[in-house]
Amino acid sequence: MSAFWKIAVIGSGPAGFYATGELFRQQSWSFKVDMFDRLPTPYGLVRGGVAPDHQKIKSVAKIYNRIAENKDFRFFGNVEFGKDIFRSDILEFYDLVIYAVGSPSDRSLKIPGEELPGSHSATEFVAWYNGHPDFSEHKFNLSAKNVFVIGMGNVALDVARILAKTPDELSKTDIADYALEKFYESKIENIWLVGRRGPLQAAFTPVEVREFLELKNADVMVEGGTLQLDVESQRFIETTASKDTKKNYEILKEISKNNKYKKKKRVHFLFLSSPIEILGSKCVEKIRLVRNVLVKRDDGTIYPKATGDFMEENADLIFRSIGYHGNPLPEIPFDQNSGTIPNECGQIIDKRKDKLLRTREYVTGWIKRGPTGVIGTNKQDAVETVNRMLKTIIQEKLKPMEQNDNSVFESLLKERNVDFVSFEDWKLLDEYEINNGNSQDRPRIKVTSIERILEIIQEKKRK
Ligand code: NAP
Repeated sequence: MSAFWKIAVIGSGPAGFYATGELFRQQSWSFKVDMFDRLPTPYGLVRGGVAPDHQKIKSVAKIYNRIAENKDFRFFGNVEFGKDIFRSDILEFYDLVIYAVGSPSDRSLKIPGEELPGSHSATEFVAWYNGHPDFSEHKFNLSAKNVFVIGMGNVALDVARILAKTPDELSKTDIADYALEKFYESKIENIWLVGRRGPLQAAFTPVEVREFLELKNADVMVEGGTLQLDVESQRFIETTASKDTKKNYEILKEISKNNKYKKKKRVHFLFLSSPIEILGSKCVEKIRLVRNVLVKRDDGTIYPKATGDFMEENADLIFRSIGYHGNPLPEIPFDQNSGTIPNECGQIIDKRKDKLLRTREYVTGWIKRGPTGVIGTNKQDAVETVNRMLKTIIQEKLKPMEQNDNSVFESLLKERNVDFVSFEDWKLLDEYEINNGNSQDRPRIKVTSIERILEIIQEKKRK
């Protein structure tokens, strides 16, 4: 009988890697992990989502590289679940599976005019400037003067900061080359960040908002009175508010003291306002907003209530940044509302079958808990999932499959003409990108088309 458990991990972002690391950490168990990703490159949002000027955050990939060095790990990039491989394949060749596919879509504002050209999701823009192959052909009007970013989370701040930076600042990052070119032509003057609630409810974190005080060529301001606190909020900040909320508020107060506007661009923080309509005949021209007041619900939550006070501003480009949303996977239960796979501590719940638990299928990361938390949050999340998996194996007296041959799945992919990328292949591309970046004093120059990535790997292998 096979002495090890074969695990398939679907998705190679932080969630997938932390789950793999956690499996390999188990002293009394033997696991072999095959990790699959739709893209030929690993690391998910670390490559395609983390802002290019946040290289320190990206260095977490070193941890994933160490996990990938384990002799019992294999990577199959350029393999899509639901197109190249299916649930039935996974259940036939693997003992257990962990879905770690993240939340690749976005949420919409559901307001008139949202579909006009010039109105985009932050998700698209972030993926575009990060060189994600699916988005490299997208077009954004950076000759716009007035840009609105809706939302007060860290993604909204990333988008606003990247728009506010000078091309020279960006040229030292690994931003996609085509995006950098467009940033050199940018005519952007005003960047508005719009939050529907107040400064104490902002979802961003202090480190991220502080960066706005350090922008070379953009002044930053808080719009008209939106830092003033009502009685309830004042009491909250003095008592129960978290350390981060207090810090955020202090930084915003520092920002609001700035009254010397000398730089080319301006970033405006506007709280207590919601977009209600995007106006324009052929494309985005204006945005209509309503001012809100804060109201406390019986359960203690604070929600924004529209007043009769409206404002209309010129807008040429709008990004909604109001949270990511998961996509369903074929044959896997899905909760459309939360955009997650229903689960109990990471074990998939099959709702259609009276909440029966699927014994061999697990989830971790954003597709498990929703798009919240920082990269490190996925580590604790993976621990919970793996613990649940081990507990189920014991409780259900599961046995590993007898077939020992680790090459069967590889043969299946070859039979299906799937041009998969191994971790060694990826390292060849990695080296190529880093070498190209060295000559320009950049961390790397990303290759942004799948076709070209595969070509480079083949060229490198022939050498
Ligand atoms: P997020 O943190 O959930 O923020 C979403 C923002 O959208 C909130 O301000 C929310 O306001 C607002 N919003 C939601 N629905 C809205 C609506 N209908 N109209 C107007 N505003 C609306 O999401 P995110 O920014 O996408 O970030 C996702 C996760 O990734 C977060 O955990 C974030 O911290 C993390 N992340 C971290 C970093 C970093 O560490 N540097 C960078 C990027 C992302 P309400 O609070 O009023 O709902």
